[in-house]
Amino acid sequence: MPDKVGVITGASRGIGLAIAKKLADNNISLVLISRNEDKLKEIVKELKNSENHLVYGVDVSDFKSVGAILKDVIEKKGQIDFLINNAGITKDTLLLRMREEDWDSVININLKGVFNFVKHTIPYMAKKRYGKIINISSIVGLMGNPGQSNYAASKSGIIGFTKSIAKEYGAKNITANVIAPGFVETDMTKKLPESVIEDYKKAIPLRRFATPEDIANVVSFLISSSSDYITGEVINVSGGLYI
Ligand code: NAP
Repeated sequence: MPDKVGVITGASRGIGLAIAKKLADNNISLVLISRNEDKLKEIVKELKNSENHLVYGVDVSDFKSVGAILKDVIEKKGQIDFLINNAGITKDTLLLRMREEDWDSVININLKGVFNFVKHTIPYMAKKRYGKIINISSIVGLMGNPGQSNYAASKSGIIGFTKSIAKEYGAKNITANVIAPGFVETDMTKKLPESVIEDYKKAIPLRRFATPEDIANVVSFLISSSSDYITGEVINVSGGLYI
């Protein structure tokens, strides 16, 4: 896919890094975002067409900074065709012990971060009458999970937000879809105790966690023309854990 530009948040590791590799292999010019700009600079060196990609160290929850970097992207690249909102965190604890800052940081990064990027990108997509937005939620946003009420709220919020954007911007030829992964082998799930991981694997019909590439493959489909008539959808990629 030459001449297309894709923004990926949370590209420094895990799912975002796998998406970056996949899209770079498809000859897409990338804009990689995370708080760690030095790490992104190292990553870019290993990607196909490394000279085509841009990196920015920014906190996705910072509305003004996100607006400034996206303006810079447009000045340098002239367009944004794909936006993949993937950056996310967990601050897991039961509601009884949840501090206000545990709630605020998860909502601000996971949900407001998506708003910030969509809000600042969609005018450019609307002008070009083309764009594909993919937001990474979680099956926890569909089914809830004890100890993750803040995370579940942020991930459910992404789903309602995406469906609304799909309705508002379909007439401008912009699609917006959600991927809801189950458990994926990344730093996020490494924090879980081994016994919990084994119990979850038993509950997953496919009997394994996803690899980051399993999620990147679905992103690859959603940015391709094969998905042109799909919008406002939630694609569950959980190995059958949530059916
Ligand atoms: P991860 O390995 O912990 O990576 C998270 C990414 O988000 C990193 O690149 C991190 O970069 C970035 N990030 C975090 N806070 C940020 C902020 N404030 N501003 C900018 N970037 C920020 O997580 P992952 O497992 O790949 O998860 C990626 C997405 O998939 C998340 O939205 C997560 O909720 C979702 N998900 C994951 C799973 C799973 O089992 N792993 C399941 C369902 C959904 P820096 O630290 O360099 O800033």
